[in-house]
Amino acid sequence: MSADPNTQALPPAARSAKARELNEIAARSRFALQGCAHCGTIQYPPREVCVNCLSDALKWRDVSAEGKLLAVTTLHHSNEPYFQTRLPWRVGMVRLDCGPSAVVHVDPDCIPDGRVRVSLDLDASGQAVMTAHAITTAHAVRTTSLSSTPDDAS
Ligand SMILES: [Zn+2]
Repeated sequence: MSADPNTQALPPAARSAKARELNEIAARSRFALQGCAHCGTIQYPPREVCVNCLSDALKWRDVSAEGKLLAVTTLHHSNEPYFQTRLPWRVGMVRLDCGPSAVVHVDPDCIPDGRVRVSLDLDASGQAVMTAHAITTAHAVRTTSLSSTPDDAS
């Protein structure tokens, strides 16, 4: 009995040497990005030199994983066999609070312009991938609380 080749497929695994360092960060359940020791810029994706000042003094720094979901779309087609059996698939762009933007997988509960927390995980190919998860804002909690208990004014 032969297996369906699409269910045996893995996500794309080609990465740069610097991007492979991100795999080690994800394996340790950290959320760290490259920070420039010369100008302080935090950057993503990983590069050989700073995107701002071209210094090669880059260190992995633990940074906030929160940000804003700028845009989201749902893919209904993929050239990658791994994703062809998993469509539709949500992807989007997150502006991280620490500076850079990233293309990420997007959980169903995330909405455009919403606050998100981005996780850094290893996919089935052992490559670091980012996924956006919705987080509840203080404003949303307050609004819900006020509307559900109107007599609880202080
Ligand atoms: Zn720099």
